[in-house]
Amino acid sequence: MLFIVIAAALFLNLMRLRDSFSWVQHTNDVLLSISGIQRAVLEAETNERGYLLTGIDSYSENYHHTRDALASRLDSLRSVVTDNPDHVARVDELRQLIDMRTAQLGRVIELGPERMREALDILEQARTDRLTERVEASLSALTRVEQGLLAERMARHDRESLAAALITACLLILAVASAAIAAFLLEHQRAGARQREADQRLQSLQAELMRVARLSTMGEMSSALAHELNQPLGAITNYVQGSRRLVEASSHPDKAKIGAALDKAAQQTLRAGAVIQRLREFVGRGETDKTVESLRAIADDALTLASVVSRDRPVDVALKLDPSIDRVLVDKIQLQQVFLNLIRNAFEAMRDLPERKLSIISRAAEDGMIEVVVADTGPGLDPQIADRMFQPFETTKPEGMGIGLSISQTIIQAHGGSITAEPSPGGGTLFRFTLPRADPGGHDTRGAAISVV
Ligand code: ADP
Repeated sequence: MLFIVIAAALFLNLMRLRDSFSWVQHTNDVLLSISGIQRAVLEAETNERGYLLTGIDSYSENYHHTRDALASRLDSLRSVVTDNPDHVARVDELRQLIDMRTAQLGRVIELGPERMREALDILEQARTDRLTERVEASLSALTRVEQGLLAERMARHDRESLAAALITACLLILAVASAAIAAFLLEHQRAGARQREADQRLQSLQAELMRVARLSTMGEMSSALAHELNQPLGAITNYVQGSRRLVEASSHPDKAKIGAALDKAAQQTLRAGAVIQRLREFVGRGETDKTVESLRAIADDALTLASVVSRDRPVDVALKLDPSIDRVLVDKIQLQQVFLNLIRNAFEAMRDLPERKLSIISRAAEDGMIEVVVADTGPGLDPQIADRMFQPFETTKPEGMGIGLSISQTIIQAHGGSITAEPSPGGGTLFRFTLPRADPGGHDTRGAAISVV
């Protein structure tokens, strides 16, 4: 809106500028015309004197020529000042004087040097009439008026030019400011879109991980439950069989009925055992969907997720993954789960310590595998749990489930790798696990020592 208002003001101002310029030009034209008439009057008088003194015809011819030119110059001066009645009156008065003066000059030319006496009388008469002075006075008066007008019009033109320059500057400033604001808004919008995209990606990643974590947890719990139930079921079977033998050996009147009931109990126990066996097999099958993935991308995603929950206690992360062995053949979501479990445990372990550093390092290992090390500067492993930490439901945390490491072990083993924990050289805990490389024949840095910072 402001832009339109200023542009309209500029347009009006430019129109006025053009107007004032044409007035200045007009005044200049009038002044030029006046000075042309002045020169012509002088030339006519010079030619008259020249002819009278020398009798040379060219003077007479020039005089006639100048006189005709004077008439047409007066016509044109009158036509350019028609807008100003005072000027028209002044020009008419000037014309009258010039006509009278040229009539005198014409008569002198007619008489020529032959009739010098009469010609000198006319000259004498002219001096008395003071026509030349009156013509000059009239021309000077006209010039003065025009010069006054010129000064006035030039001042107006300067004012209009200044206003035009100022309005143009305003317009430019407005244009630059608008462009800057537009660029800022665009960038703001883009940043918002990028943020929304990142949030959506994080959300979908979290949802997928939660789903897999729930499934893994369920699988892990079922497996643990099956394992725990197998022993009591075996014991029940033994007790039932023992009781059966005791009943058979006795002389109880209902021993046939009791025997049949015990047989049924044994059958049901076996059935329960078979159901549990099937459950263990199903859970143990550990179906994975392996594809070639970037180890770094998986670690990055897991770090992003873990950082969300540790925002208030930032951790100094050193990600030193060898780019030449980045391709791994894994189930991406499951491996993310492993990274997330280890990183989250490390973050939790270091939560209340002043120094919080996490290193994730990779190197080529034997048999086409990659070894990954995740080391923290936390308090280290609790000796109470150190040798059982990979077993399900083993935890030292009040709110812990104790299945994160157990799930991680299951996943790593399902990929043909292994996972171990040990004290980190710099204090804290160090987890080491192996994964299959997607290109086992590629660049090999096997044996290179991993130094944990
Ligand atoms: P949870 O985290 O629910 O306790 P986990 O299976 O992930 O279950 O971990 C089992 C236990 O192993 C933890 O309770 C903790 O005592 C120990 N632990 C795991 N990671 C670390 C670590 N980085 N530093 C110290 N102790 C750890």
